[in-house]
Amino acid sequence: MSESYAFIGLGHLGGNLAASLIRNGFAVTVFDRDPAAIERLVALGASAAKSPAEAAAHAGNAITCLPSPKVSEAVLAGPDGLLQGLPTGGTWIEMSTNGRDEILRLAALASAKGVETLECPVTGGVHLAAAGRITALVGGDAALYERHRSAIEAMCAKSFLMGPIGSAAVIKVITNMLAFIHLVAAGEALMLAKQGGLDLAQSYHAIVASSGNSFVHETESQLVLNGSYDIGFTMDLALKDLGFALAMGERSGVPLDLAARVNAIFERGKEAYGGGAWSTQIVKLLEDAVGTELRAPGFPSRLET
Ligand code: NAD
Repeated sequence: MSESYAFIGLGHLGGNLAASLIRNGFAVTVFDRDPAAIERLVALGASAAKSPAEAAAHAGNAITCLPSPKVSEAVLAGPDGLLQGLPTGGTWIEMSTNGRDEILRLAALASAKGVETLECPVTGGVHLAAAGRITALVGGDAALYERHRSAIEAMCAKSFLMGPIGSAAVIKVITNMLAFIHLVAAGEALMLAKQGGLDLAQSYHAIVASSGNSFVHETESQLVLNGSYDIGFTMDLALKDLGFALAMGERSGVPLDLAARVNAIFERGKEAYGGGAWSTQIVKLLEDAVGTELRAPGFPSRLET
């Protein structure tokens, strides 16, 4: 019989991950502080709970996809939290992005209550999550990974067991650091093309077929060219991840000149457009500075799945 899961945190990413579990026949009990998010998943076949504790007690295992380590800690170990509902031997699967220290600390809280932790941050963006095709980066015990592998594979096309708990946080922070650097670079590239008098759609396609291509250019540049910037990921989340990267660099003695520069650019982006603005809107800083928009016909307002 397959495991059943509580799913807490049904936002841009978590809502899609929980929907994939349901689509693949898993029994899912959901909770979010936003009742509308719960209703969306109940309409797809989830059961609703009134608290993380209730959801966890009902399901026996719990998955979280929450905005910050502080919120993860409250949902895990706070009043009415998961640890009040999960049975001994139950599993907590953390799919939020955390730093290494944070996930180690939270896993220790779970372990003290007889609950095992698998960290499972994901990468690829909301459009891949919607199609069940996002990538999972897993940290934890290999046997525990095998136990939950069918659920992970219901949500994610690829999964990589990186090593013990904490190792997925390291690679996840690295991949996001690269993505934000690539995003700022893609914006600068498109602006040079525009100011150089080139057709932007043709420039986009030429870069995709070039040695300067990146996953971020292929995906997010389309949203810049459309003007929606709607990537489903906010400036606040980008700054959280860049903060983890900079802290990791400092701790491990690796100078991160590029990441530090990009972090400063995102600080300016947050100041200009707010922490809830889409991270892709970082390119608007350059559009505003130069006084021209990077637009071309034929690009979608959201990435197609
Ligand atoms: P989001 O803000 O869209 O969703 C967070 C959800 O958590 C919301 O529905 C919110 O109501 C809920 N929530 C907040 N506090 C809560 C609480 N105390 N109890 C219950 N529910 C609570 O964020 P997101 O974009 O879905 O990201 C979630 C996590 O996934 C973050 O850690 C982010 O870094 C990571 N992530 C996001 C993406 C993406 O493309 N959006 C990609 C990879 C990783």
